[in-house]
Amino acid sequence: MAPVFSPDIIARVKEETDIVEVVRRTVALKPAGSVLKGLCPFHSEKTPSFIVTPARQRYHCFGCATGGDVITFVMETEGLTFPEAVEILARPLDIDLSSWLQEDEGEGERRAFHRANETATRLWSEALWEDSSGQSARDYLTKRGFTAKVLRDFDVGWAPAGSQWLGEQLQQNGVDAELAQAADLVRRGDHGTFAYFRRRIIFPIRSISRQVTGFGGRVIDTSEPKYLNSADSTYFSKGKLLYGFDASRMSIAREKTAILVEGYLDLLALVQAGIPNVVATCGTAFTIDQARLVRRGAPGVLLVFDGDKAGLKAAVRSADVALREGLEPRIVRLPAGEDPASLLANQGVAAMTQALRAAEGYIPLLKALADERGGGREVSERAVRQALSTVVGMKDPLRREYLLQETGEVFGLGKEILQAALAGVRREQPRFRRKTEAPERGPALEMTPPEPSAQPGGDRRRLKYGVPLQRGRIEADLFRHVLGDDSGEAARAFLADRGDLVLSTPAAQQLATEIAAWAAVDKPGGQTPQAYVEQCWNQTGDAGYRGFVSSILHKEDFPERTEFVKATTDILQRLLQAPRGRDAVRAEAQGSGGQEV
Ligand SMILES: [Zn+2]
Repeated sequence: MAPVFSPDIIARVKEETDIVEVVRRTVALKPAGSVLKGLCPFHSEKTPSFIVTPARQRYHCFGCATGGDVITFVMETEGLTFPEAVEILARPLDIDLSSWLQEDEGEGERRAFHRANETATRLWSEALWEDSSGQSARDYLTKRGFTAKVLRDFDVGWAPAGSQWLGEQLQQNGVDAELAQAADLVRRGDHGTFAYFRRRIIFPIRSISRQVTGFGGRVIDTSEPKYLNSADSTYFSKGKLLYGFDASRMSIAREKTAILVEGYLDLLALVQAGIPNVVATCGTAFTIDQARLVRRGAPGVLLVFDGDKAGLKAAVRSADVALREGLEPRIVRLPAGEDPASLLANQGVAAMTQALRAAEGYIPLLKALADERGGGREVSERAVRQALSTVVGMKDPLRREYLLQETGEVFGLGKEILQAALAGVRREQPRFRRKTEAPERGPALEMTPPEPSAQPGGDRRRLKYGVPLQRGRIEADLFRHVLGDDSGEAARAFLADRGDLVLSTPAAQQLATEIAAWAAVDKPGGQTPQAYVEQCWNQTGDAGYRGFVSSILHKEDFPERTEFVKATTDILQRLLQAPRGRDAVRAEAQGSGGQEV
């Protein structure tokens, strides 16, 4: 369970942090009147539509309808959860968060889990550097060219051979057997407990907030399995983490590219060679969750794989995942038999940089692979189908079009043929298509609407983004008036007259719920509805909601004498009585040119 901070601490973090200063670390901002403008870090653009308003300590993008405050910004750009972002922002402010933390039982358990892992990390590190049993590991790592600096920076350790060693050491350091077992440091067998990792180099895997959540272990001889990882648990999920991301995320954001490698030692070798923007999968195939993690930090990813057949197969699969998640992948093919660590050790940094520079795009790679297999009709056909299946899974319509075009150019196929083939592939993958089309983030209008049956006042027809555009605008307008009225009367009128109106997006529904929550605690001299909503809009973990609220708050400058209550009830009536006829739907379709909220 995540830690819960009191509203006071959140308010203090927001007050004492300057959003301009924080945003400037990732976005170049230029003053434009009372606001600052820059290129949006959340979508790619050539003219700035991302603005920061220092007076309100908020940002908003008119291009992709993303917005928020300083905490949201850190969450979104660094891929952090709300508490992680608060922790990071509080650090330079010298605020002691522990005294503000609203403890709950789950939190106690989580802390104990991390304490057990930190203790094991220290014990294993001491075993590597100070214990005679660590000699063989030290020799192995030195022979492979690793310096003490990089190994210590990443807290690399050594798990001695004895099956009781770790359990006893942990016990002496205040971690009892039950906790050690819960953290998967020891396991229970027929003859009592035994250490899970033995005779292995240990790589502590940290979360973004730098807590050790699990371990990878690698043998130093030819025994099997070569790699072993902690089992997945409530607090550790291999497929959702990237090894080294806690250390590399800033340089990944700076370089706008992440280098993805397979092995722990590959990552250390690159970092040691002065290439810091690198992450490693923890022994899993590249997952959608990991791609999302990368996407939050950078638009591009370099996939580094062995040049052998298995490596290339993995590269194609990973590039497919990356493209589906909106990343721009390029594939680095290493000479057969080499991995990044061995290439760096054998041929030096220049060879590695050259390999990185020679990275290929996805379609050219598919073509090259087909050619290497003889380039016959059958292999080419298979390659084109692979490309089309990726195209079908991509969310961004523009990118989809470009990749389709590239497929045509590279394989020498006409547009009509490809479109026809695409329809075939699409029919074969209906299930997948459905799943990938519900975007995780983005404009509020792109959110999946509630089921039609649960929406008595809603339109039957869905437009381009699955939600009637005009209706979304009217609802946004409604909330603008509700939140614009500091007296709270418009909010109360909305709640009183709302009836069974179901709003057309989850974001709008959630905002309505928040306003009801405000009313429940409202008292004379209390918070305005807007202040109430703003207090915790970034704790929901839903980018769609944040974007929706941000869009509304950014149009809050009403003429002084707007009659909020009247406007609110008028709009509400329109929504409650909206005609359902075909003409009305057509009129809406024609009337709504843009998707601005
Ligand atoms: Zn944007």
